Amino acid sequence: MRAHNFSAGPGALPLPVLEQVQAELVDFRGAGRSIMEMSHRGPQVMRVFEECVADLRTLLGIPDGYRVLFLQGGARAQFWMIAANLLGGGTGGYLETGTWAAGALREAGKVGSTQELWSGKADGYSAVPQPGEVSLPDGLAYLHYTSNNTIYGTQYHHIPDPGDAPLIVDASSDILSRPLDVSQFGAIYAGAQKNMGPAGVTVLILREDLLARVPDGLPEVFDYKKVAGKDSMLNTPPVFAVYVVGLVVKHLLSLGGLAAVGEINARKAERLYRTIDESAGFFVGHAANHSRSEMNATFRLGRADLQDEFLAGAQERGLHGLKGHRSVGGLRASIYNAVPEASVTALVEYMTEFRAARL
Ligand code: PMP
Repeated sequence: MRAHNFSAGPGALPLPVLEQVQAELVDFRGAGRSIMEMSHRGPQVMRVFEECVADLRTLLGIPDGYRVLFLQGGARAQFWMIAANLLGGGTGGYLETGTWAAGALREAGKVGSTQELWSGKADGYSAVPQPGEVSLPDGLAYLHYTSNNTIYGTQYHHIPDPGDAPLIVDASSDILSRPLDVSQFGAIYAGAQKNMGPAGVTVLILREDLLARVPDGLPEVFDYKKVAGKDSMLNTPPVFAVYVVGLVVKHLLSLGGLAAVGEINARKAERLYRTIDESAGFFVGHAANHSRSEMNATFRLGRADLQDEFLAGAQERGLHGLKGHRSVGGLRASIYNAVPEASVTALVEYMTEFRAARL
């Protein structure tokens, strides 16, 4: 029996993928060993890596001139690595839209010059900047933003204009949830553990010409040029995690690709937000309408004293992971790709019944 899993991350994985992992676990495709028990330099693992990259290229439409790298240390390691590799003595511009965006800015500040170009802090991080709201200084080394703010439940529904600078995005919590025009980016990075696979691998999609910015002397495992030169196998990579990412990507291709996935996600989010909006203040959303996330819906009960009861009742119905992040409080329903529409149905039915019983 599978629970309705609204966990913010690690999040739900597609059942067919888990079943395939299970079927191949003990004897990986006739090898007589699991994929965790063989050399990453052997042909079977090499093939898994090559297929994962090729399928990601197909799924996201990654153009020539971009590298796909598998890194470790989570998205948080990229907060520092992006700056260490790509700042090139210049200034990084940052859009500060929540905990993770602020973390990226903070870590980059340990490397060199940064500028906070926008902050949502005063508004409780309830929105992301809208087109035209950010004025860009000339000559930025790059512009960094966080496409989906996992904790606050806000998301960009446009691609920010970086002027002449390369655009860099932390897409940890919405990558592969909708189509993305990769050609607009200098770099896209994402920890796998929301929409792509298990924790332990971070995917970096990097415009190749930016490798020229990488300074000499970085520790090898943090050096994009060195890792790219070894096709993500500078040291032992997180093989199992990459294998599962590869299966998830194939699964998304089988669903019809990101346009099809995006439509399903939009429908799921619309149903949930409609339930909040039509509750006459019984449920109150956190994010401004134009910035609402299709991945993490943050809301609270108008009557805060009912929250514990709501969560206990949810648990009883097999609805898990609905407690909001400690920095926002309230409730959060993460409805990543692998959360089925049936789980959203179960949640909105519960919300509707819970409210009706207390009117
Ligand atoms: N960025 C975003 C948008 C996230 O949601 C998270 C994790 N919740 C992180 C960065 C940090 O990721 P990791 O734990 O992989 O370092």
